[in-house]
Amino acid sequence: MTLSTKTIPLNTGASIPALGLGTWQSRENATRDAVKHALQHGYRHIDTALNYGNEKEVGEGIKASGVPRDQIWVTTKLDNHWHHRVQDGLDSSLKDLGLEYLDLYLIHFPCSTDPEDRGRCLEGWDFVKTWHEMQKLLDTGKVKNIGVSNFQISHLEKLLNDPSCKIVPAVNQIELHPYNPSSKLLAYCTSKNIHCTAYSCLGGHSDSPINGHTNLTKDVTVLKIAESKAKTPAQILLMWGLQRGVSVIPKSVTPSRIENNFDLDGWSLTEGEVKEISEIKTRSKVVGDGWMPIRVFLGDDE
Ligand code: NDP
Repeated sequence: MTLSTKTIPLNTGASIPALGLGTWQSRENATRDAVKHALQHGYRHIDTALNYGNEKEVGEGIKASGVPRDQIWVTTKLDNHWHHRVQDGLDSSLKDLGLEYLDLYLIHFPCSTDPEDRGRCLEGWDFVKTWHEMQKLLDTGKVKNIGVSNFQISHLEKLLNDPSCKIVPAVNQIELHPYNPSSKLLAYCTSKNIHCTAYSCLGGHSDSPINGHTNLTKDVTVLKIAESKAKTPAQILLMWGLQRGVSVIPKSVTPSRIENNFDLDGWSLTEGEVKEISEIKTRSKVVGDGWMPIRVFLGDDE
């Protein structure tokens, strides 16, 4: 099996494609075309979220690609203000995606907010209750695997130690790149048999008006290794993630970049190169928590 089509087994017995296409901040026609192009180029994993507002276009791209549904892994996420309406959130996503089922459904953040006032926490509710509802979805046939996103060690400890938790999350999707390596969190998840998917694995959008970015594709160590191997910085960052055992979901709406990010077969980083990238000392995050009513990133994941 080649690296671009490699799959990674989950604790459910399912296997997630190690490389997928991210779609956050991909808009309208660009989303549809990017998803279609990626699938026709060989990608078999698409990541979206109710929060991205583009599930409909993702679904259109899937349909337009002509790739059979059962060959594609589709992940979407439950938004913070839908935590007490898990079944409704799922139905809304399935309707917009135009799909009968999801391969993976994630709690987007460990933060339950009031739909009437998203700046406030939902009274009498927390992510443990949300997970209780998520577990019921597995009986509906509409979801094959369930997991979480942006959960830190303390969130996972709270969840896993609660008597209502009967199913260990299959996946924790978290920000992972050399400027936010989260080694402690990754080791914790591995010890609990929870697979990690790396988001913002290229360091995020350098032109994003609403979020941070890390300038990772301009990092001197990454650039030096890219040059020496005649690869792009993006390819080096993706390979570093894959060689750490995580799945990666680079976002691009640019056909040549979608292809470049998939071109990972027949080469690898040496142990020394992996070590050199892992030893980069710069720290920077793309996604913050200032827009939520509680702190989610507790700094316990380094
Ligand atoms: P990425 O780290 O994937 O970076 C995306 C940026 O990199 C875009 O500006 C893109 O530009 C550019 N890019 C893509 N490929 C290349 C390349 N080969 N060379 C140079 N630049 C390139 O950022 P994201 O933050 O979007 O993370 C990836 C995905 O992870 C998201 O799209 C989303 O699906 C998921 N995610 C999940 C979160 C969560 O809370 N669970 C939070 C954040 C992201 P262009 O598109 O113009 O080509």
